[in-house]
Formats: sequence, structure tokens, C-alpha cells
Amino acid sequence: MQKIVVLPDLVVDQIAAGEVLENPASAVKELIENSIDAGATEIRVEIEGGGLQRIQIEDNGSGMNREDLALCLKRHATSKIRSAEDLGRLVTMGFRGEALAALAAVSKIELKTSNGKEGSYLAAQGSQSEQITPRPRNRGTTIEARDLFFNTPARLKFQKSAAACAAAVLKTVQTISLAHPEIAFRLLSNGKLTFDVKLSEWKKRAEEVLGPFAHEIAAPSVRGLLGRPEEGKANRSGQVLFVNQRPVFSPWIAKAVKTGFGTRMREELFPVFLLFLEVAPDAVDVNVHPQKKEVRFRDEGKIYALVQNAVIGAFQQSAPALPPVPWDFTPMPTTPFILREQPTPSIEERLPMEPCGRPLVQLGDFLLVEEEGWQLIDLKGASARLLFEEIEAPQAAVQPLIWPLEIDLQESSEEVSELLKAAKIESHPLGPKRLAIDALPSGLEPAQVSAFLQEFQGGKRDRRLAAVVTRTCRASTRAYSFEEACLIWRKLQNCEDKQYDPLGRTLAVSLTKEALKEMFR
Ligand code: ADP
Ligand code: MG
Repeated sequence: MQKIVVLPDLVVDQIAAGEVLENPASAVKELIENSIDAGATEIRVEIEGGGLQRIQIEDNGSGMNREDLALCLKRHATSKIRSAEDLGRLVTMGFRGEALAALAAVSKIELKTSNGKEGSYLAAQGSQSEQITPRPRNRGTTIEARDLFFNTPARLKFQKSAAACAAAVLKTVQTISLAHPEIAFRLLSNGKLTFDVKLSEWKKRAEEVLGPFAHEIAAPSVRGLLGRPEEGKANRSGQVLFVNQRPVFSPWIAKAVKTGFGTRMREELFPVFLLFLEVAPDAVDVNVHPQKKEVRFRDEGKIYALVQNAVIGAFQQSAPALPPVPWDFTPMPTTPFILREQPTPSIEERLPMEPCGRPLVQLGDFLLVEEEGWQLIDLKGASARLLFEEIEAPQAAVQPLIWPLEIDLQESSEEVSELLKAAKIESHPLGPKRLAIDALPSGLEPAQVSAFLQEFQGGKRDRRLAAVVTRTCRASTRAYSFEEACLIWRKLQNCEDKQYDPLGRTLAVSLTKEALKEMFR
């Protein structure tokens, strides 16, 4: 008997909706992004019941003509890209042509739109749309979605209370508004005005939404505001990052900011910051997360140095500059340079040498250090050691994620959640085999989480923390930049055990002149 069937369109759309639309806030985010892409200068959001009962977004953007309105609810219908190459030069927020199709699949929607010449109206329910009828309207678009997730009970069941949903919508509107001071935003929740900002410029908008900041970053490609070092928080809740005006989450960049604070801030605290990073569209991949919450950079090391230096620069405006201490090695060639501006040398490069040892050159996953002859350091093993000691530390810093990571498992989510506690990973089950990760130990990057979880799967393997950490780090295919390699080596110097990885494999091999001579005999 035939077992494979092609899924009906509505089911396909509902599956896709599960990825794009997690809750009312993600629907609001998609709709606002569309209004921004349409060039709106005023966006008005109305929600009822936290958005589960009703979401309405009204804008004064370009609107659509009748033909475009007929297409806009179709999956992969977009006016923003034409080819895969366009992904490398994205300047719009949307590009997948998925949001409206997804929303139409899981709610009852009505669209009113006008391009200034003709106005049209369209209603659809669970992807079934009616005829388009003429309907006058000023230029712009109004989209109303009622009964969100009415036909996807599983998704509906996992929604939070109306109040929590409303709070998440408010946060979404506020966050997006930070990157678009040129747009006036209004949010009404159950008829009450809860957010209202007029046209402004970025610093004023930031203070209006987030309150005052102490320091300003004004470097090429990076601008933003920093809280005082002593105002650091116990978690990441005070951190907002935009890459090309897109709100994203990147512990990697957060770490670069923290490093820029240097010793001004206590180890366990998280700096408060608002950061806008501008990179060439082809230097960043936004197509790695269904809700575009994560981005990947072509050259993480360069971005890291850029951010770190910008933060250092913000503090140096009032303090004397550090004298430059030049290195006397030729660094490894790195991948072609992709940022618009050349970053200045990183703090790691400018700091005086450690008293013992000096990194010379990187050989793939190994670093050659001049220290009692030479030492060859195993970087993967060393990063496992660092992560292990960070997790084991009694006061290990745990970083709540602004946006929890959702992961599908092979095993019971309750059990895995319990096991993860030992690794200081906080999580809660979303379903029998689906888990939301809420917080990570500070040394673990979200990009490593799925590899980490894979190591837990199957049950038969060694589930000791030491084994899981070591296997995760050793299996990583991430290439280290020379700066990162030096950082790993420097941090290793502070480890309790800097000789061995958590499973007891040696981390450094001595190369003496004699031993080298011996090799060539
Ligand atoms: P994407 O934004 O990825 O293109 P969407 O499903 O969000 O996909 O939207 C599909 C298309 O509908 C957009 O490409 C755009 O042409 C049109 N559209 C959606 N919302 C608006 C709006 N508020 N104003 C004008 N056009 C819109
Ligand atoms: Mg869109």
C-alpha cells in the first residue's frame, strides 16, 4: 500500500505558521515589518485579548494594488526578492513571503489596502480567501487577524495568558520602534493606549523607550548607548541589539560588549546596552532562523573586535588612551574582509604580553606559543576545559535568553530538562518531546546548544558532564580566528587545571629545540 501522501496546502501552511508565528507578538512583528518595508511613517497596532482575539495593524505605506493583494496571501509570494542572489543584498525586513500566508492559515484575516489610486478589500479564513472587492481607503494597508490559532489547537494550548501575550506584544513594538525613530508607533491594548511615540531621532527615541544611558558609542558601523558599569544586571534583560535595523539575539556580540567593559564591570554582571550594528548585507546571513531572530556573520572575529573596540572607545572619550603595544608576529591570513570599515586593533592585541608565554601562530585548531621553548596548545580541548570549569563553578553565571530557544528531542522533554540542570541549562517542556531553553551557562553559546543536546540523546552514551562538554567542543567545526585562539589560551591560564581537557587528554605538547632537531634526524 502507498504510504506517502503529499500534504494539502492548508496543512503545509499551518506547519510553516508554526515556525514563523509562535505567538501574537511574532505575528505583530511580521506585520510591522511589512509596514516598514512598505515605507510607512505611521504604524498603529491594536490588540485584544493579548492579540489572541484580535490583532490589527494599520499603516500609511505604499499599499497594494488589486493584483498584488490577490497574491500576497500565497506562500512564497513576495515582492522583495526575485532570486537567491537577492538574499545577499537584502535591504528589506521580509523576504520569504511566508508571514501573510502563515497568518492566513491560522486565523481569520481581513485586508484593506490602497495604493492611493484604487482601494481593495479581501477576507480569508484558514487560507480560504473570498473575492476581492473594491473598498476606498487612504493610501496604506490595514490588516486584521481574529482568533489566532483557532484551527491549530496544539499551538493555542501553549499560549500564555492574555496579559503575558499583551506584554510580549508591547515589548515587540517598543523594540522595533528603537530601530525606526523615523516612524510614529502607537499600540492600543483592549482599547487602551499603551505605547505612543512620535517621529524622533534615535537617541531621543531610545531614552523615551528605555530611559537615560550614561555613555554613547559612536564608531564606524556601530552606534549605541551603554549603561554605567555599576548598573550591570544579573541577566541579559538590559541588552538590545540590532543588526541592520533587525532586532537579533547574539550572545557572541553581548560578550564582545562585556569584554569592552574590561575590568570596569564585575565578572558576573551583564552590561546594559543598546547597540546598532551596520554591516554590508552580504556580510550577514539572516536566513538562519524562521523568525529571523538569529543572524550569522561571515567573519565573527572581525565583528567581535569591532564591537569590543567601539565599547572601549566609548569609555576612552574621557580617559587617556592605552599606549599601543605592537605584536611582532605576522597573523594568519583570515577570510576576506567584509565590513565597510577597518576595525582598530582589538584590546587583546593592545594589551601587554602575559609574563609567561606569547602566542606565535595558529595552526588550524592549534596555537603555537613561545613558552619554555614552544608549546602547541589544543584549542578544541582547551575550549572544552574552559566551558567545563565555567559550568562547574559554584557561582556560574547563568544567562537568561531574551528569546527562548525551542528544540525538538528524541527523548522525553521532562527527563532531558532534568538532566540539563546539571549543565546549568534552564529549560521547560513545551510538549512531550519539545523543549524551550530559557537560560544557558555564560560559556555556552546558543549555537552550541543543539550539539550539546545531541550528546545527551540516545541514553547509552556517557552522560557525565565532562564527557558531554568535551564531545560537544571537540565535534565543533567552528574555525577559530587568531584573536579567538589567543583569547582561549589566555583564559586557559586561569583555569584550575590547564593541563588536561575534562576527559583527561593533554592540552599542551612541549616542543623543545632538541625534540625538533630529533624530528629531522
Ligand atoms: P515578505 O514580507 O517576506 O515579502 P509577507 O508574507 O510578509 O512576505 O508579505 C507578502 C507581500 O505582501 C509582501 O512582499 C508585500 O508585497 C505585500 N505586503 C504585505 N504587507 C504589506 C503592507 N503592509 N503594505 C504593502 N504591502 C504589503
Ligand atoms: Mg513580511
